[in-house]
Amino acid sequence: MASWVAVELLRTGLVDGVAHVTPQPPLFAYQISRNVEDVRAGAKSRYHPVTLWPILEEIRARPGRYAVVGVPCFIKAVHLLRRRDPLLHARIVFTLGLFCGHMKSAHFGESLAWQIGVRPGELAGIDYRVKDPRRPANWYRVRATDAAGATHEKDWMHLAGGDWGAGFFQHPACDVCDDVVAETADMSFGDAWVEPYASDGRGTNVVVIRSPVLLDLVGQARAQGRLRLDDVDADFVARTQAAGLRHRREGLAYRLALRRRHGIVPRKRVTPSTDLALRRKLIYRARRRIARDSARVYLLARSLDALWLYLFWAQAAYTIYEALAYGRGRLGALLDRLTPRP
Ligand SMILES: Cc1cc2nc3c(=O)[nH]c(=O)nc-3n(C[C@H](O)[C@H](O)[C@H](O)COP(=O)(O)OP(=O)(O)OC[C@H]3O[C@@H](n4cnc5c(N)ncnc54)[C@H](O)[C@@H]3O)c2cc1C
Repeated sequence: MASWVAVELLRTGLVDGVAHVTPQPPLFAYQISRNVEDVRAGAKSRYHPVTLWPILEEIRARPGRYAVVGVPCFIKAVHLLRRRDPLLHARIVFTLGLFCGHMKSAHFGESLAWQIGVRPGELAGIDYRVKDPRRPANWYRVRATDAAGATHEKDWMHLAGGDWGAGFFQHPACDVCDDVVAETADMSFGDAWVEPYASDGRGTNVVVIRSPVLLDLVGQARAQGRLRLDDVDADFVARTQAAGLRHRREGLAYRLALRRRHGIVPRKRVTPSTDLALRRKLIYRARRRIARDSARVYLLARSLDALWLYLFWAQAAYTIYEALAYGRGRLGALLDRLTPRP
């Protein structure tokens, strides 16, 4: 759907270029696509860190109207820049936001690839979400391409770090983020993680439209039968992101309270608070620990060329996390008796 809107913006002449993230050496980078084929070729989610800087330079250098696709913090950054820079203000005319649970470091994809046989340094490409209409859309499958062009695939759920919610390789800044649905974008796109949509292997978007022009564009396409959308309310959208919102409301309040003890506390919409069930506190602490330690342990494993070291740590850390979060294993059963899951 994000690519569809970007294509429509180009096709109808509302923009001359779309800034989005495409496969480029070493793996991914922003590019400005100026034709429909290039926009379509750039579809798919890249759970990979990138920088906006080169395309901002290009937008400044080349007159025209542009749309920028990005995760919530990037879209907010674009608006802040537009406030200060009249040229960017005039040229960036649409922002298309991606819902976001958190951003990962480049080592996330690399660690998945290493586990399926592509060593660091030999990774030539990665598809984080291989589509298979026969399987539920939320069974993520990764495909890595090595330097010789051979491909290797596996489901995330069988790989260390493959449980998104556990926070492996999460960027530290995401710990204080409160924007899940790219609230400042003209239109935002996410995954409809509720049934029956989650089981539909083709994948289903949930979208929020905040721009009258885009509402009109989408409305016309619906009327012409070119686009099929069901009307849903805000509660439905929130339900599709229940875990992300819990992490960034209740979880954020707790993380802010923990930060109070150590110094700087950013001002957010939620008030710092430790008023939540012990089990949830432990889950948020475990996620924070996994985010920090995955970066460190992986770096050590990489420098020693010892994948086993990372896997050994990841398995241990995840055993504790899944016991806390899902009550799995003997430890989970014990925890369920001591501190019930809320
Ligand atoms: C880091 C990250 C975390 C996410 N977390 C969630 C989540 O918690 N919940 C949820 O519902 N959805 C999340 N998403 C969004 C989801 O993965 C899809 O991107 C979204 O549903 C749009 O899908 P689509 O099929 O409409 O996009 P497509 O039609 O495939 O188009 C995607 C567009 O986004 C661009 N793009 C891809 N990756 C990036 C990137 N990193 N930065 C900027 N532009 C990019 C592509 O170039 C393309 O133009 C996340 C995405 C990212 C990148």
